[in-house]
Amino acid sequence: MVPGARLVLLGKQGAGKGTQCTRLALHYIVPHISTGDIFRAAVRAGTEFGKKAREYMDAGELVPDEVVIGVVKERLDQDDTKTRGFVLDGFPRTVHQADALDTVLAPRGLDLAIDLEVDTTVVLQRLASRRVCVNCGANYSVDSPPKVNWTCDICGNEVIQRADDTEGAIKRRLDLYEEQTAPLIAWYLERDKLVAVNGEGHPDTVTNRLIRAIDHRREPQG
Ligand code: ADP
Ligand code: ZN
Repeated sequence: MVPGARLVLLGKQGAGKGTQCTRLALHYIVPHISTGDIFRAAVRAGTEFGKKAREYMDAGELVPDEVVIGVVKERLDQDDTKTRGFVLDGFPRTVHQADALDTVLAPRGLDLAIDLEVDTTVVLQRLASRRVCVNCGANYSVDSPPKVNWTCDICGNEVIQRADDTEGAIKRRLDLYEEQTAPLIAWYLERDKLVAVNGEGHPDTVTNRLIRAIDHRREPQG
C-alpha cells in the first residue's frame, strides 16, 4: 500500500466536506488542509491578508485564484504534506485552481478526487442550522449543539453562526459552485481521478462509504 494519501474532496457548501475531511485526515494520518479555515484564521488574526479575504468571504464571493493558489502551494511545500500527503477541503474550486494543483503535484499527482453528493434541498437546511467554533472550526448545528452552553466540546471557545451563512451569501456561494466548481467533476472524470460518494445519511455512514471508496481505488493493481 502506498503510504499516506493525496485526496481532494469536492461538494457543495454544506455537503459535509469539513466534517468528513477531519475524519479522513485522522484515518489516513494526513493533514487536513481547508482553504476556508486558513482564510478564517487570517481574518481572526486581523492581518492585512485577512482583511482582504474577509471582504470576499462575507459576500460569498471567491477569493481570487492567484491568492488561493499561492496559499495552497506554500502549504503543500511543507514536509508533512510532501511525505504523507493531504486531504484538501475547499480547493480546488475552479478549473484554473485544479490546473495549478496538477502542476504542483506532478509527477505523482492526486490519488483521487471525491465528489460528495448531497441534494440542494438538504444542504440548504444544513447551512441554515450550521454553527461553528470560532477557534478550531468544529461543526455543530442547532439540532446537535455542543454539550455545554454553545462552547466548543474540543477547545472550549465560542460556537457561532458563520458570517457567510446568511441567506444571500449562501445563495451566491451555491450559484458560484454550479458555475465554477461543478465543472471540476467532469474535469477529474476525464482524468480518471473521480469517484462519487453519497453524502446523505448519518456522518458515520458517510465516513464508512468514503473509506471504502478510497481504499477500493487505492488497492495495488494486479
Ligand atoms: P463553504 O464551502 O461553505 O463556502 P469554506 O469554508 O470552504 O466554505 O470557504 C469559505 C470562503 O472562503 C468561500 O466562500 C470563499 O470566499 C473562500 N474560499 C475558500 N476556498 C476557496 C478557493 N479554493 N477559492 C476561492 N475562494 C475560496
Ligand atoms: Zn473549537
